[in-house]
Amino acid sequence: MKAAVLEGLEKITVKEVETPKLEDDRGLLLKMKSCAVCGSDLRIYHYGNPRVKPPQIIGHEIAGEVAEVGSKVNRFKVGDRVAIGADVPCGECAFCRDGQGNNCEINYAMGYQFPGGFAEYLLVDPLVITHGPIHKIPGELGYDEAALAEPLACCINGLELSWLSLGDTVAIIGAGPVGCMMAELARYMGARKVMISQRSKTRLEMAKKYDIDVVISATEEDFTERVMEETDGMGADVVLTATSSLEAQKQALTVIKNRGRVNFFAGLPKGTDPIMLDTNMIHYKECYLFGSHGSTPRHHRMALEFLASGRINARKFISHNFPLDQIMEAFDTVESRKGMKVVINP
Ligand SMILES: [Zn+2]
Ligand SMILES: [Zn+2]
Repeated sequence: MKAAVLEGLEKITVKEVETPKLEDDRGLLLKMKSCAVCGSDLRIYHYGNPRVKPPQIIGHEIAGEVAEVGSKVNRFKVGDRVAIGADVPCGECAFCRDGQGNNCEINYAMGYQFPGGFAEYLLVDPLVITHGPIHKIPGELGYDEAALAEPLACCINGLELSWLSLGDTVAIIGAGPVGCMMAELARYMGARKVMISQRSKTRLEMAKKYDIDVVISATEEDFTERVMEETDGMGADVVLTATSSLEAQKQALTVIKNRGRVNFFAGLPKGTDPIMLDTNMIHYKECYLFGSHGSTPRHHRMALEFLASGRINARKFISHNFPLDQIMEAFDTVESRKGMKVVINP
């Protein structure tokens, strides 16, 4: 089969490799249809990741058709259309047993320790089938759209942990695909007013296509002032960072309402200097600071259902498709912020 193999830092080669064989009767073989490119794929490509040992096939926003299935697998049959998310719970540690697989002590993921979706076939490990985020694609939902269940699942986890509730005002910093998806999801979850801010001009224009009340150009206006103005001087109930920047985290803290919630949704590069925090602000505002990362199989299933019902229209978030041979162009398109979600069709 053809696969895009990560062979080392900044080295991906598209080449013929042996098609994986289904040897375990609890596993399955997936014919890959769509695998969307994630910001973390680019980080692995440039900087590596301790959980990814080259040579490895990366890509964790996965959708495909079951080509072969082990005799002990009951949930799936040949021809089933399925989507797979990233975080795979080990199923045994205390966090996994409590349903918090994204906090698993081992922290397995597709396209990390397990092979990913940038290939014609993907051998799915039995552990993924028993405990992982693998689900049949509901209804008429297409493969490209179903692949986006992975980032949407992370957004659901992020908003659940931010205690988003009916009538809340929401401010999101960063209008990339995940920020915009989060904005639409916040609306669906009952937000009264959704604001988003962005620096790059192209992304700012793209953000206007979505169901977002206030799009703030961070280079032309003052984020804090604008959010305060839009919330009658009170600040936002929920503030999320959807861009990997310390500046965004500092900004988030300036617009938090009393009893509001801040979620540092986007992580920062390892080694970033710690932030100085005015803890009296937290004390007097009675506000909350959260973080969230990844998602659980429950979030992935829910994301697929939202997408299939059309509540979140994944098509609007997909700006480019590329064949596997052009994976480097796909990475470029993501990195240069020319597009929103970019999907590889192996
Ligand atoms: Zn992802
Ligand atoms: Zn675990």
